[in-house]
Amino acid sequence: MDSTPDTPPRDPRDELAELTAQLRARLARYVACGAWAAPGGATSRAEAEPAAQAPVREPNRLAQLRTELGECTRCKLHSTRRSIVWGVGDENAPLVFVGEAPGEQEDRRGEPFVGPAGELLDKMIEAMGWTRDSVYITNILMCRPPNNRNPQPDEVEQCLPFLNAKLQTIAPRIIVALGRPSANTLLGTDAPISTLRGRFHDRHGVQVMPTFHPAYLLREPDKKRDTWNDLKLVMAELDRLGIKPPSPAGDSAASRG
Ligand code: SF4
Repeated sequence: MDSTPDTPPRDPRDELAELTAQLRARLARYVACGAWAAPGGATSRAEAEPAAQAPVREPNRLAQLRTELGECTRCKLHSTRRSIVWGVGDENAPLVFVGEAPGEQEDRRGEPFVGPAGELLDKMIEAMGWTRDSVYITNILMCRPPNNRNPQPDEVEQCLPFLNAKLQTIAPRIIVALGRPSANTLLGTDAPISTLRGRFHDRHGVQVMPTFHPAYLLREPDKKRDTWNDLKLVMAELDRLGIKPPSPAGDSAASRG
């Protein structure tokens, strides 16, 4: 049998030029929709986001971003998820909570923080004088990693541009990073949460307070006191900024355990 192919092999330079053109077109689409904060640069680290000036809100952009995300297949998690868990709350919220990724119940219901850890987060938020509807709650990843394993770098790289775009749209004054994966991703560090929590970190003009994840608090209730102290710093800073919660805050079940 004659094994000679019908068409001659392509010139590798032609193939490279074609791939480059496709990549440029894709980047241009991301930039146009705001989902790519730093064209031409890395997108997997906090440093990739351009420095923020005074918060500028872009009304109705979240729905537009969700449409742009579509039935996302940008990373391998699409093959095991039940639902894309986008985020909930007020798109003009001054306070945003960012977890790591959806769990089993979140994946089932399509909403972040709805299981036992979510119930604890709700109590923490209410103890601060806020509500689930008056803050914004989301995750680094929008699809559940199998067996709730930690997010992997390639997944974060694909999903982070959308989180960055969400945060640009919401323009919060303070972000509470729940757990180490969230804090590490937002701040571009590998430091443990125990060394990051308890103080604000600047993320291009937005203050980030890392603290323990509610799921960790369910396993280690002794850490609730530290978490509450972190949240009290958040409350004090919001007050200093002249941002009042919908209802008066006070020590509550979240602080007492
Ligand atoms: S985790 Fe993010 S990037 Fe990956 S499939 Fe889900 S939405 Fe897309």
